[in-house]
Amino acid sequence: MSSSGGIQIPSRLPLLLTHEGVLLPGSTTRFSVDSARNMQLVKSRLLKGTSLKSTMIGVIPNTKDPEHDSDELPSLHSIGTAGLAVQVVGSNWPKPHYTLLITGLCRFRVSHLLRERPFPVAMVEQLDRLEQYTEGGQLDGELGELSQRFYQAAVQLVGMLDMSVPVVAKLRRLLDSLPRETLPDVLASMIRTSNLEKLQVLDAVDLEERFKKTLPMLTRQIEGLKLLQKTRKLRPDDDKRVLAMRKGGVFPGRQFSLEEDAEDEDGDDMAMLERKVKEAGMPEPALRVCLKELKRLKKMPQSMPEYALTRNYLELMVELPWSKSTTDCLDIRAARVLLDNDHYALEKLKRRVLEYLAVRQLKSALKGPILCFVGPPGVGKTSVGRSIARTLGREFHRIALGGVCDQSDIRGHRRTYVGSMPGRIINGLKMVGVNNPVFLLDEVDKLGKSLQGDPAAALLEVLDPEQNHSFTDHYLNVAFDLSQVLFIATANTTATIPPALLDRMEVLQVPGYTQEEKVEIAHRHLIPHQLEQHGLTPQQLQIPQDTTQEIISKYTREAGVRSLERKIGAICRAVAVKVAEGHKLSRTDSSSDGLSGCSKHSGKAEDSDMTAPPEMPIVIDQVALKDILGPQIFEMEVSERLTLPGVAIGLAWTPLGGEIMFVEASRMEGEGQLTLTGQLGDVMKESAHLAITWLRSNAKTYQLTNIAGCADPLEGNDIHLHFPAGAVTKDGPSAGVTIVTCLASLFSGRLVRSDVAMTGEITLRGLVLPVGGIKDKVLAAHRAGLKRIILPKRNEKDLEEIPSHIRAELDFVTASTLDEVLNAAFDGGFPAATVTHSQIASKL
Ligand code: ADP
Repeated sequence: MSSSGGIQIPSRLPLLLTHEGVLLPGSTTRFSVDSARNMQLVKSRLLKGTSLKSTMIGVIPNTKDPEHDSDELPSLHSIGTAGLAVQVVGSNWPKPHYTLLITGLCRFRVSHLLRERPFPVAMVEQLDRLEQYTEGGQLDGELGELSQRFYQAAVQLVGMLDMSVPVVAKLRRLLDSLPRETLPDVLASMIRTSNLEKLQVLDAVDLEERFKKTLPMLTRQIEGLKLLQKTRKLRPDDDKRVLAMRKGGVFPGRQFSLEEDAEDEDGDDMAMLERKVKEAGMPEPALRVCLKELKRLKKMPQSMPEYALTRNYLELMVELPWSKSTTDCLDIRAARVLLDNDHYALEKLKRRVLEYLAVRQLKSALKGPILCFVGPPGVGKTSVGRSIARTLGREFHRIALGGVCDQSDIRGHRRTYVGSMPGRIINGLKMVGVNNPVFLLDEVDKLGKSLQGDPAAALLEVLDPEQNHSFTDHYLNVAFDLSQVLFIATANTTATIPPALLDRMEVLQVPGYTQEEKVEIAHRHLIPHQLEQHGLTPQQLQIPQDTTQEIISKYTREAGVRSLERKIGAICRAVAVKVAEGHKLSRTDSSSDGLSGCSKHSGKAEDSDMTAPPEMPIVIDQVALKDILGPQIFEMEVSERLTLPGVAIGLAWTPLGGEIMFVEASRMEGEGQLTLTGQLGDVMKESAHLAITWLRSNAKTYQLTNIAGCADPLEGNDIHLHFPAGAVTKDGPSAGVTIVTCLASLFSGRLVRSDVAMTGEITLRGLVLPVGGIKDKVLAAHRAGLKRIILPKRNEKDLEEIPSHIRAELDFVTASTLDEVLNAAFDGGFPAATVTHSQIASKL
């Protein structure tokens, strides 16, 4: 047997489980797939790679278990059809799915499964040998007779159809050119047969059996047609209806539909769609486009891929809130109460939001700037956005922009593109169902850029009040009015927001919280919220303030409260398990459970053996905390690291909040080289050079020397400056004073005070210039337990933002020259011998 002209299928095939129909060899059938398994298969096998092998898949009917959508693989039918996917169309309407056009090649039997996830792959055995057919010539004996009868019946059937329909004519031609052996499969897939019947045909591996199975189906179809012709006077185009036209495949797909109902239903469907189009309240241009598309749709056979595309489009158009909106119910007093109830602290932000809302109330069509909340994660930016929507009585929708680097994410894909869909803005509108929601554009600072166009530019169009009343999504291709949408943006830093975008926004800084604020937030909001989420009550779980403080300082190190909330969640989960078990455990010894350290507060503590533990609150004390959260994560390590000269603590600002930062220096014999390590940006490197130059030029005044005691600290010495946490890129001028202090310590051999942190930019002449992020930096120093903070004189005004009780605990030294900085950083001033080199640092 030669394999020329035949098809050899691979021995391993990915399997597509279909519950809609049965694919038979020689036919081309459309399948819609939406299960996770099948979608995975399409994505990884069909949308990638172009070789024949990669588009060949095994189609296994799964008619037994059509509703099966669970994670587990259903029991597989043992025989399937290897097929080539000739077309893949993706759509996300009404839910994400792909429509595949698959041409069946030959049967196979599943030998065994190789893997189940993410989609099943099996070793298979090919059953039909196509080459046999073509070479075998005429069939003999009983089989020959059977095939002859079958052929004649097929010719008779086709003869009863209208030859002017191209598909019928083609079929007539095919009947003669196809090998007889393939006829049962081809016809069984075209005539009206149930899925069960098709399954029987599929299972009939033996050719004779297959002929015997399909012949009665064919005769039944012929009888049916005869009956139809007799009972009804055929109208000229009835034949066309008998044969639902299928284009696009080698063979007509699916079965004939002899039922009129289907078409009537279709007609109803169209009428309904048309009515919806007219009732959607679209503006004139959109309506015109829709009616035109509708007209096209009516003429289109359903099997055309374009049919699905156009239909999806129209359905989206009618669902969009062209003229649906909610009425604003703004009452400033109520808004204030609501904002205050939802959020502790955040005074400045809440005040500005109220102003914004008040102006809106007075001047209803507000074309004001877009508010942009900038601050570390978990400080309540999203949450304030949500409250704004609530105070206005508007719908809220969050659009995450992190990592979006394709402008069609915002503006949609053109409809010609396979799998095209509208952008996030239009999608969001569809989800909320009104045209005046609050859209929170989350993380605008993380917008990417790529070859697919700049999403920031698309966003500009969305946000610009001059343009956004006619925002055109590529998919819709007609303008949608976005001017009623209230946009709010959030970001961690303004540094990476594209300047043009930043220009359209009013930036509101949301700094991190102090320890005390966090404790309050935890007790007012986070704990009640988490209790509710875990189905617990305060009668079951209590977290005292001390414990909260412990969680904050020992288990989290963040500017916001997100990981604090997570830790509280972890405690709730642990307790929920105990409470749920409680009913059963009521008689067991309570000390044997994991929360042995929890003190159980109850008047009836003695009889706890007999009563169910859930009756008594579980109080989380330090021991219980350690049991649940494990050993503490963060320790105070500051003083340990300042035991040698050449170490100083700086304050850095990062998008995640303030942080303390160590600067270390060491020296050795060499040629006056400066080595810098620790992922530094250019500005930081410049600061280091400035610092060295300034110290060298002032070496005499400050009694700085090299290792050998010579008056030039660099003479015969190499210097190495290191900024630990080398994986994090650091840049910015504010480390200047820290570098100077660190080097001054190295060159003088004196220790920097272990409780002092500093920030400030330096100049070549020894002046100290102001820097940003003071509140976050001060809070970080406070968190780390430092007491004295040196900052530029011109930043003094920023200290007002810091809560007074924190200010009271810290000793602020403002400096306008490096001289003042050094004096404050070393015990006994700098250099030690001089009594007071400068004015005493002012305290706040
Ligand atoms: P962001 O958007 O700034 O990253 P979120 O708004 O998601 O932060 O806030 C994280 C969690 O912290 C939310 O559950 C939020 O309710 C809570 N939260 C943050 N700040 C406050 C606050 N001031 N008062 C009450 N809850 C807060």
